[in-house]
Amino acid sequence: MHYLSTRGDTRGLSFVDSLLTGLAPDGGLLIPEQIPAVGDEIDSLRGLDFVAFAKRVLPLFADDIETSTLHTLIDNAYGTFASPDVIEIRELCDVAVVELFHGPTLAFKDVALQLLGQLFAHVLAQRGERLNILGATSGDTGSAAIAGVRGQDNVDIFILYPNHRVSRLQELQMTTVPDSNVHCVAVEGSFDDCQNLMKETFGDLAFKQQYQLGAVNSVNWARIMAQVIYYGWVSLRGVTPVSFCVPTGNFGNVFAGYFAKWMGFPIDSLIVATNDNDILARFFNDGTYARGSVHHTLTPAMDIQIASNFERYLYFLLNKDTDKLKALMQEFAATGSTQLAQISYGDDFLATAVDRDATLEAIRSVHAQSGYVLDPHTAVGVAAARRLAGSVAGPLYCMATAHPAKFPEAVAAALPEVSATHPALDALVGMSERKQVIPADIKAVKAVITKGLARA
Ligand SMILES: *Cc1c(COP(=O)(O)O)cnc(C)c1O
Repeated sequence: MHYLSTRGDTRGLSFVDSLLTGLAPDGGLLIPEQIPAVGDEIDSLRGLDFVAFAKRVLPLFADDIETSTLHTLIDNAYGTFASPDVIEIRELCDVAVVELFHGPTLAFKDVALQLLGQLFAHVLAQRGERLNILGATSGDTGSAAIAGVRGQDNVDIFILYPNHRVSRLQELQMTTVPDSNVHCVAVEGSFDDCQNLMKETFGDLAFKQQYQLGAVNSVNWARIMAQVIYYGWVSLRGVTPVSFCVPTGNFGNVFAGYFAKWMGFPIDSLIVATNDNDILARFFNDGTYARGSVHHTLTPAMDIQIASNFERYLYFLLNKDTDKLKALMQEFAATGSTQLAQISYGDDFLATAVDRDATLEAIRSVHAQSGYVLDPHTAVGVAAARRLAGSVAGPLYCMATAHPAKFPEAVAAALPEVSATHPALDALVGMSERKQVIPADIKAVKAVITKGLARA
């Protein structure tokens, strides 16, 4: 299996190379040259547990890692989950939710980042290399990435987050991790500042090379690959085809569902559920892809205007015409909008935007009907699923992307009488913390990295 960039100038990478590369040097996102098909094997994949299923499908993508080694890495990654099944499905009143949040940080990002941590450890040890991860987070990605690589010898991780602007619980999930390879960096600025500082640091190619910087955000193909697994697995549970509703921010999770469909898993439609940051809902409804300003909502993990993984979808939408895609991304970067109305995207996706009231109402009504407490992100999905259920085929599964205890304020806004808690989060309160506070300045970021690495 070889990987190429959506912008066409980077080609022929092995899986391991693509794992370490993150964003392609030409600015595009890496994608497999061919979609591995599972058609003939589908029947033999039915009825497997999640881990056994992952062991059958992941080798199709990671074919330059020895299969028995890959199996061990998969066991290690999913052995950290609190549920022996890794992923649990609950049939509630009128909806079925797929609980993806039983990993160490209680968000779906653990499913991919636990595996990524294992892959990094193996590949770096084998090559005798080091990697220094630089990431920016508005909350969930930072803690899940830290949980994936904490304590590893060949990796240091630097996470930038906006000081005082992530929730206290999310901050504690990062700053209480005692391992010396973890560096939490609170930036005096916004999340956008953090992301820009990260991009600027990666953009200094000499610095990037000298300090072996790598990325863990969902531009890394391995994250999408790991997410493809649960779509395939759920799709083979029973009646087929199935449809999914996915609370969407960076388009990484729902894109994995689209990819699973093209591999041949029996998936009908994917519902893209957004909050008030509705750029994707507008695109799927009228073909305009236009950036707005970021709204702060009850669902901060989805407060995103530019969904980086959307480029991977556009690549397929444009029939893999990398020149056309490059021109389109340039137009979008220059003007903040582009028109794609003339392109037919078939019926793979449906989309709708869910506002604050509808989110709270979904939390309330599911609780009233079944006693189950939704996290606000999942609630956005449930509200969208109820709106569009009549337009999709088969059983409709809502992806539950976080445990409600991660977002107690939103839960309290809907259900004042309920307090959402989780022992893993309660245990963080009062633990000692480590963080550095820096100004929103690239020199300060580089100094944190050089000093942090000098410790060894
Ligand atoms: C990251 C995240 C999302 C958005 O997922 P994307 O892959 O960025 O679309 C949704 N819900 C929660 C809880 C998340 O942490």
